[in-house]
Amino acid sequence: MRGLHAIVTGGGSGIGAAIATALAAEGVQITLMGRTLKRLEALGLPGAHCIVADVSDAASVQAAFDAAAEFGPADILVNNAGEVESQPFGRTSLDVWQRLLDVNLTGSFLCTRQVLPGMTERGFGRIVNIASTAALRGYAYVAAYCAAKHGVLGMTRALALEVARKGVTVNAVCPGYTETAIVDDAIDRIAAKTGRSMEQARAELAASNPQGRLVQPHEVAQAVLWLCRRESSAITGQAIAVAGGEVM
Ligand code: NAP
Repeated sequence: MRGLHAIVTGGGSGIGAAIATALAAEGVQITLMGRTLKRLEALGLPGAHCIVADVSDAASVQAAFDAAAEFGPADILVNNAGEVESQPFGRTSLDVWQRLLDVNLTGSFLCTRQVLPGMTERGFGRIVNIASTAALRGYAYVAAYCAAKHGVLGMTRALALEVARKGVTVNAVCPGYTETAIVDDAIDRIAAKTGRSMEQARAELAASNPQGRLVQPHEVAQAVLWLCRRESSAITGQAIAVAGGEVM
């Protein structure tokens, strides 16, 4: 993989940071994108380029990928930037619904269309969309997030077929509850709403995983790394759950 160029959105924290670190360890040239430059730079990945981008904003995405093109064409795109917000369906405003679709689903569309023509022209590309087990099953109180992640998987499958003969693979990785800021926020929220302790709230999330624990970001990164390898060329259109057996 040495010398390939990967763009990782939301690469400054959590799962994205673990993915960027794992790819860099294989000699991949990394471009990190996210809304907060300081967060991207704080990762301290030697040689990585950091570019500010809001994936839900078409003009911002265009400008960011124009800037990234200066570091060479993208061979790998990891659509990892995402956001979750939970509330009962009846209290989900149109604004929240739209924002979660924009960030999680439209963001993946906007970034993918920036790199796809170059990948198909060069006959090589790896697109990995970080979906979720919420792309494979429902969870109460996160209808907008589930809808967006199911959409990501639909886009993954359709595009995989479209470019199947072009040397480009398109896959989704579907983590279960993974120990990052997103899960920390969920634990805070559960504790605040139910009066349970943080430990109880954490244990409740861990219990949904048959292994009885939270997934670690580096475990998600290893699945992404595998999909990005040249040797993984026959794997496309797949949803790879990294969730300790929660879905099968
Ligand atoms: P995280 O640490 O909060 O990472 C999310 C990243 O996305 C942040 O670096 C954030 O950086 C970036 N981001 C958010 N909105 C953005 C936007 N509009 N434009 C550009 N970047 C944006 O949480 P994480 O758990 O690692 O999440 C990474 C991905 O994994 C998400 O797609 C999430 O849905 C998915 N996932 C997580 C879990 C879990 O349990 N943790 C499970 C399944 C799937 P800025 O705020 O600086 O932009």
